[in-house]
Amino acid sequence: MAKFELPPLPYAYDALEPQISAETMHFHHDKHHKAYVDKLNELIAGTEYENLSLEEIIRTSDGPVFNNAAQVWNHTFFFETLSPTAGQKPSGALAEAIDRNFGSLENLGEELKKAGVGQFGSGWAWLVKDASGKLSVRATPNAVNPLKEGQTAILTVDVWEHAYYIDYRNRRPDFLSAAWQRIDWTKVAERYNG
Ligand code: MN
Repeated sequence: MAKFELPPLPYAYDALEPQISAETMHFHHDKHHKAYVDKLNELIAGTEYENLSLEEIIRTSDGPVFNNAAQVWNHTFFFETLSPTAGQKPSGALAEAIDRNFGSLENLGEELKKAGVGQFGSGWAWLVKDASGKLSVRATPNAVNPLKEGQTAILTVDVWEHAYYIDYRNRRPDFLSAAWQRIDWTKVAERYNG
């Protein structure tokens, strides 16, 4: 029996239009995200990983098991980072932390975009919180995620080509600007406060 299941999208496929099309969301969730779940289940069947949580697998594995487990986690986290409501703004403790660490929300947006654009090849742009509560922006290659390095991820944007090629072709900067308008700041605040 398959251990992990593909979580449904937390909103309708067309909920992120016009920034991200329903066609992209169908490919991204139904094909790419699903493929990572299926591959992970296939790889861990009959191994010691079968009894571990997804986070435990990410922390203790490497190679193909790590790559697929992290991509399952990263995609669930990314889809939950986005909101059907465009143009939200953070408030409260998170807004204060953003001002303290980046000067302004706008600066954070620019830093995140720079990190995503600067990630050579496939990867992810993240907003992370370290043990002291300090926020920083980083990019990671391929499936790598901050969990493994003791950081708490609170926001991410997928910068693999499959995330934007249908809507934006090669224009990764435009996709990052569009995704920025779709951040679910309520969700990000939950992760920050949690
Ligand atoms: Mn992806």
